[in-house]
Amino acid sequence: MSDKNKEILLEVKNLCVEYGKGKKNRFRAVDNVSFHIYKGETFGLVGESGSGKTTIGRAIIRLTETTSGEIIFKGKKINGKIDKELDKEITRKIQMIFQDPMASLNERAKVDYIVSEGLYNIKNYKTEAERKAKVEKALLDVGLLPEFLSRFPHEFSGGQRQRIGIARTLVMEPELIIADEPISALDVSIRAQVLNLLSQLQKEKGLTYLFIAHDLSVVRFITDRLAVIHKGKIVELAETEKLFSHPLHPYTRSLISAIPIPDPRIEKNKVLEVYDPSCHDYTTDPPKWVEIEPEHFVLGNDKEIEKYGKMLENI
Ligand code: ADP
Ligand code: MG
Repeated sequence: MSDKNKEILLEVKNLCVEYGKGKKNRFRAVDNVSFHIYKGETFGLVGESGSGKTTIGRAIIRLTETTSGEIIFKGKKINGKIDKELDKEITRKIQMIFQDPMASLNERAKVDYIVSEGLYNIKNYKTEAERKAKVEKALLDVGLLPEFLSRFPHEFSGGQRQRIGIARTLVMEPELIIADEPISALDVSIRAQVLNLLSQLQKEKGLTYLFIAHDLSVVRFITDRLAVIHKGKIVELAETEKLFSHPLHPYTRSLISAIPIPDPRIEKNKVLEVYDPSCHDYTTDPPKWVEIEPEHFVLGNDKEIEKYGKMLENI
């Protein structure tokens, strides 16, 4: 993708999401997060379990209420109160694939209903024949046969179920798909197939992906840019290869140092970087979200940003 053709599809600005009510129970799951996603790219969001990744995805598709900040899709603010027309547009254009295909499909419904559900919700078809055609096309797109439409989810393997999960998003003809750890619940042997399917669909349909993962090694080869999230805060964001070759934030560095190296001799002598959040002294000099070089953002206070700048100079 050349720089000139980059068009921002989704922008998240200073997003905060809190759960629970009252001072005691309130918990900030997403804390002042900002990023944007270009049309046609695969943007990765990686962080350990509980860091707020799913919450961000759900906030974008309006399943979870935002506390503050803005979510902007194609130039329009889509969080908070929006009009019916825009709500319908977002419901169609932004779709989410869920982590666990064993839990996310309605067991009592046939595949035909499961894949059609979004169409029913927004009445996105004129005739029954049109609905049927859309659903059959979606199944074919994910490599399943139209005759599966009359079957129930329990008749399928994990990989096939995730394909059904993908078909139910495709039937809506979305522009942005949020793939929330789409392969982590699957057998290792079929993970690559599902990743290949997603990448092939992206090429065919010009889709944009927000790809959520907890495993850095998965996202390395499929994302264009990558954001690293730790306890609700994005700590670093850059082009994927840049992030891997020149990580700045100590948390990013610790994640990368933990990836196993295939060569056992190198692996044995590798020094693991352990992240200790107490390395930051933010009492008098709080952190800011800084674009330290073009398209490379890092969270740090003045002192840290100066240090990171020197690290980049020394490359
Ligand atoms: P991730 O997807 O990165 O594992 P989540 O977004 O699911 O993280 O969760 C972030 C934090 O918010 C976790 O501490 C989780 O326990 C909490 N959380 C998630 N959903 C809810 C909810 N509905 N109510 C209260 N807390 C929640
Ligand atoms: Mg999650």
